[in-house]
Amino acid sequence: MSGRVIPIRIADAVSPAPTFAGPTVIASGETLSDQRGRRVRDLRISVTDRCNFRCVYCMPKTVFGRDYPFLARGDLLSFEEIERIARVFVDHGVEKIRITGGEPLLRRHIENLIEELARLPVELTLTTNGSLLTKKARALKDAGLTRVTVSLDGLDDAVFKRMNDVDYAVGDVLAGIDAAAAAGLAPLKVNCVVKRGTNDEQILPLVRHFRGSGHIVRFIEYMDVGSSNGWNMTEVMPSRDVIARIHAEFPLEPIGANYDGEVAERWRFVDGQGEIGVISSVTQAFCATCTRVRLSTEGKLYTCLFAQSGHDLRALLRDANSDDALRTTIAGIWRGRDDRYSEIRTAETARNRKIEMSYIGG
Ligand code: SAM
Ligand code: SF4
Ligand code: SF4
Repeated sequence: MSGRVIPIRIADAVSPAPTFAGPTVIASGETLSDQRGRRVRDLRISVTDRCNFRCVYCMPKTVFGRDYPFLARGDLLSFEEIERIARVFVDHGVEKIRITGGEPLLRRHIENLIEELARLPVELTLTTNGSLLTKKARALKDAGLTRVTVSLDGLDDAVFKRMNDVDYAVGDVLAGIDAAAAAGLAPLKVNCVVKRGTNDEQILPLVRHFRGSGHIVRFIEYMDVGSSNGWNMTEVMPSRDVIARIHAEFPLEPIGANYDGEVAERWRFVDGQGEIGVISSVTQAFCATCTRVRLSTEGKLYTCLFAQSGHDLRALLRDANSDDALRTTIAGIWRGRDDRYSEIRTAETARNRKIEMSYIGG
């Protein structure tokens, strides 16, 4: 990374209050389509912008230091506000909700939110760094969580510590994965972001460790999210190279997607020991089928992971607006959506100021 990177401050990154709420009330249950014919199917909710890790590709210490201006508690959406927005999205066709962050298990009483969202007719999942899973897995399951995805960027303690940059031992995350499986949050997905030259030699140890366990390891191409990780294409390991490396030791064959628009490409071990996945946001963009929308910790709606601004729903919520007004606003935002960042990425766009992943939710 050259020079100091200036993070996008939240206040810089907010679109004006939504102007979409017109007189037309959108009927509950009406299917929404954006400018490219994509429906809204997955809602990702960031419940905190804080984290106890400083992963080098997400919250580098040089930017997310002691003085970083994290959101104040009063700025966060309350659980009631999150639930209200989630209901409207379910009316609009959302079938999957993922709780994320920052580190979502740092949000106090997160299981209370899970309990409320679990009443909705959706698949409810959560992405975590795993550090608090030994304490929380049982409560999350009891609250109605369907599954968890645990991020794990290596099996070797030294490499893992180099990635999380807070000296966090890998054994604790492995214990968290076991606790989640024992609580019934299985099959787990284990996400590994591959940074060439930093942790790519961990690909095979991870595969060897989880093969046959029922858990599914997914290797994610290192992305140019945010503006602080000093992303460089030379550090991206294309998924095809990941597959080639695994295939040389454990023969693989491709398998079909579980559903339309699944972002992970699935491969199974020929010897029947399970499957792995690769997520190739950089080398094989999947914008054409992208059905994801993201709600930030303070209630801004983002229609793309690489967005430069969001739509303020919190003002609308706190301004005594009805659910119909909320529904109409959200419909207008989705209908106006034309995002396809990964299809048009260049070295130039990678340098654009974008929202940080820890704020928008992974
Ligand atoms: N703290 C939780 C965790 O790490 O699982 C949830 C939030 S984190 C932002 C969600 C996911 O985004 C993680 O799997 C993480 O590895 C991934 N991620 C963060 N920065 C990334 C980057 N630059 N490229 C690819 N994936 C990234
Ligand atoms: Fe924290 Fe997750 Fe980002 Fe790592 S990837 S710094 S655990 S939010
Ligand atoms: Fe979706 Fe944006 Fe990612 Fe394309 S770049 S897949 S539109 S989130």
